[in-house]
Amino acid sequence: MERTFIMIKPDGVQRGLIGEVIARFERKGFTLVGMKLMAVSRELAEKHYDVHKDKPFFGGLVEFITSSPVVAMVWEGENVVASGRTLIGATNPISSAPGTIRGDFGITIGRNLIHGSDAVETAQREIALWFTEPELASWTPANHGWLYED
Ligand code: GDP
Ligand code: MG
Repeated sequence: MERTFIMIKPDGVQRGLIGEVIARFERKGFTLVGMKLMAVSRELAEKHYDVHKDKPFFGGLVEFITSSPVVAMVWEGENVVASGRTLIGATNPISSAPGTIRGDFGITIGRNLIHGSDAVETAQREIALWFTEPELASWTPANHGWLYED
């Protein structure tokens, strides 16, 4: 089973959208295997967004992510990395389709509510960066057979 790293950013937490985001992943059928509300250190934020370190928005992005708590989560399921990105919507909320999280709740790219890993390898790197092994629970939901054929 595939896993992805999902983070509700400070704007999503401040705007009271934690439950809304979790509900969307839950009702899709994905399984929550790790979750914590936490303040993010500058070091962790810089490591997480390392790929963007030379971009003009990097400084502001690190400031934003460290400004207020986030909810870090790991979700599991078939194709959860790509499907998670579909649930989230395009990077710029103004071009995200209605029905997606960013499309329904966001307006600007610098306040787009949520992060989701963009590839399976990225997900593995991000999960290892944000969670220790004991913080992740491997479990099979009772409705598994009603979501998957085998
Ligand atoms: P994502 O994978 O859809 O989150 O998008 P990226 O990996 O391209 O960018 C990471 C995050 O940086 C985005 O979610 C935005 O919060 C932020 N970001 C990206 N591009 C811009 C930009 O042009 N301006 C600002 N202010 N923030 C940006
Ligand atoms: Mg990205």
